[in-house]
Amino acid sequence: MTPRPEDMVATYEPNIGLEVHAELSTRTKVFCGCSTAAGAPPNSQVCPVCLGFPGVLPVLNRNVVEYALRAALAMHCAISRPSIFERKGYYYPDLPKNFQISQKRAPLGKHGCIEIPANGAAKRVRIADVHIEEDAAKLLHPEDDPQHSLVDFNRSGIPLLEIVSEPDMSSVAQVEAYMNAVRSMLRYLDISDARMEQGQLRFEASVSVRPEGASELGTRVEIKNLNSFRAVTGAVDYEIRRQTRALEQGERIVQETRLWDDARGATEPMRTKETAMDYRYFPEPDLTPLEIDDGWIARVRAELPELAEVRKKRLVSEYGFSEYDAAVLTSDKSAADAVEAAIKQENVEPEFAKNMVTGPGFRWRKMREDGSGEATQHVQGGASQFLWTPDREAAVIAGLFRLVASEQITGTAARDYYPRILDSHKEVEDFVREQGLQISDRDELQRLAKDVIAENPDAVENFRKGKEAALKFLVGQVMRKSKGRANPQMATELLRARLAAQ
Ligand code: ZN
Ligand code: MN
Repeated sequence: MTPRPEDMVATYEPNIGLEVHAELSTRTKVFCGCSTAAGAPPNSQVCPVCLGFPGVLPVLNRNVVEYALRAALAMHCAISRPSIFERKGYYYPDLPKNFQISQKRAPLGKHGCIEIPANGAAKRVRIADVHIEEDAAKLLHPEDDPQHSLVDFNRSGIPLLEIVSEPDMSSVAQVEAYMNAVRSMLRYLDISDARMEQGQLRFEASVSVRPEGASELGTRVEIKNLNSFRAVTGAVDYEIRRQTRALEQGERIVQETRLWDDARGATEPMRTKETAMDYRYFPEPDLTPLEIDDGWIARVRAELPELAEVRKKRLVSEYGFSEYDAAVLTSDKSAADAVEAAIKQENVEPEFAKNMVTGPGFRWRKMREDGSGEATQHVQGGASQFLWTPDREAAVIAGLFRLVASEQITGTAARDYYPRILDSHKEVEDFVREQGLQISDRDELQRLAKDVIAENPDAVENFRKGKEAALKFLVGQVMRKSKGRANPQMATELLRARLAAQ
């Protein structure tokens, strides 16, 4: 009997590539001297060049080239000599001169790679190119005024680094690992703050699916405007499923650009290739081809900082951390910096410093940010600006370490205080004094134990039936009532004695 199509087992394999646009953190824009500082009033950091007035001349910012070179070399790219700036023509209200200056067709770096962890091993994702371009202005569409849109030119001319991968990723997990690797690298190289919630990192994905073992790639679909890790993984996952289902039903995939609808959790068609834009690239006549000499390349290569992979191995050999802990720490440069500062400058035991940062330290980072787990360097709060530095975090770790070592507070209290001290402007000793030191006062603990027993008859009952976990729960309640200040050993003893006596 011939099998019906739906009975035939075919396995499909996805091929995913990502384009990343990262805002570089130079102090001034790419082709003019306007500031790139965040938080300025709209249209206050502009000039005729970045407003696109006719007849103005762009002047290339040397630091943008330096930063892009750092990225290209760290990604093992070949450096094009020369790379060429071109005009990419399109009309849109955020682009008054009707073209974007980009190195898209003759990029600064080509044929590189980035390693990502995949299924317990290292996988190489090829980088097609790394190039410099300028950002467009930002369009705002006020909800209370649907008749009007606003344009903020502060973003116009901010330098962008575009990093284009080959379609080498084959799962959502690999896409996630790749995004983490790129963000971590940008931060290690100190060339971008790479904060998604501020639009400093933007993604586009290309997804195709083919029968496993096929030599040709399937028809690819591009997904634009992905502005969070969650949007990228959601959109890629959706496309893999949609295309696989279509192929299983014998349908043909249409080559097209699709948009991700966050609310619906689905992609939808934007335009097909037949109506796709022809950008009419041509060389920018006001910028000469960019020649980077050997000396410049050699210097930048020599000055490349220690990247996450190398640092991870060093943390294992130098401090005896597990591979896993070292990977967690180095995934966030600020975390690894804080731990090493605590150990080297403050003589904190490596184990203590590591536990503080991998536990409450990472929870604090999550709270502080966009949920992506990186520390915020500058927390803006009205007029006052609170500055995070690795030294400040190391000093907090050291202060808590000394208090725990001298048994003035418990490890539990230290973990509880840690994020709160980081959020305050206070010294550890002052903060802890305000909280009151650990309660080792027998009378006070007795009072807390009595209340907790009265308030939790179910747990008391369970403990009497022999459930040891119920005692842990009751101790937890004492800790909670005391805001983490109770001495847990004493609390356990007192509760046990009291329960036995009843
Ligand atoms: Zn300007
Ligand atoms: Mn681009």
